[in-house]
Amino acid sequence: MLFAHDTLAALRAAVDLVNSGEEPDTLTTLAELDAWYAEQGYTGRHDGDEAELAELRALRPVLRELLTTDRDRAAELVNAMLAEADALPQLVRHDELDWHIHAAPADAPLGRRIVVESAMAMVDVIRADELSRLSVCADDHCDGLVLDLSRNRSRRFCSTTCANRNAVAAYRARRRLTPRGGG
Ligand SMILES: [Zn+2]
Ligand SMILES: [Zn+2]
Repeated sequence: MLFAHDTLAALRAAVDLVNSGEEPDTLTTLAELDAWYAEQGYTGRHDGDEAELAELRALRPVLRELLTTDRDRAAELVNAMLAEADALPQLVRHDELDWHIHAAPADAPLGRRIVVESAMAMVDVIRADELSRLSVCADDHCDGLVLDLSRNRSRRFCSTTCANRNAVAAYRARRRLTPRGGG
């Protein structure tokens, strides 16, 4: 296993949050905020109000930088984020989840917990020198982030939509290059 399960969950949540900002933006209403929270398997404080929505939307460029910058800059950002949030790593066991790390209290605002969890996840990624697992979608018109956990590091697109669009384009390009009839 490349990373612990809580690290993976935090990375997925951070990538999903950043990618929600790709057109069409899928984090614009309180219903979408609720859906995002539920989908990520989050527990703890969830105000579900406009302030929380605005906070999460504002986090997207911050997390994008954290997840795509170089290793040394990422380390600086992680340290600053953890210090600013007064992070205190604690092993916890709750609901059906076995021991994992919480570095911010469950009643801290969701935005602050996302920052802390993303930073804690990057602690693992930076130490393992696995930043190449994070990249920007290979689609020319998409800035979505890609989290590649595959063994052979083959994942290049942020979504099946982008992967399919490019597969179709590549197929058409090949057809155009193939001489027709009796060649
Ligand atoms: Zn937990
Ligand atoms: Zn994409």
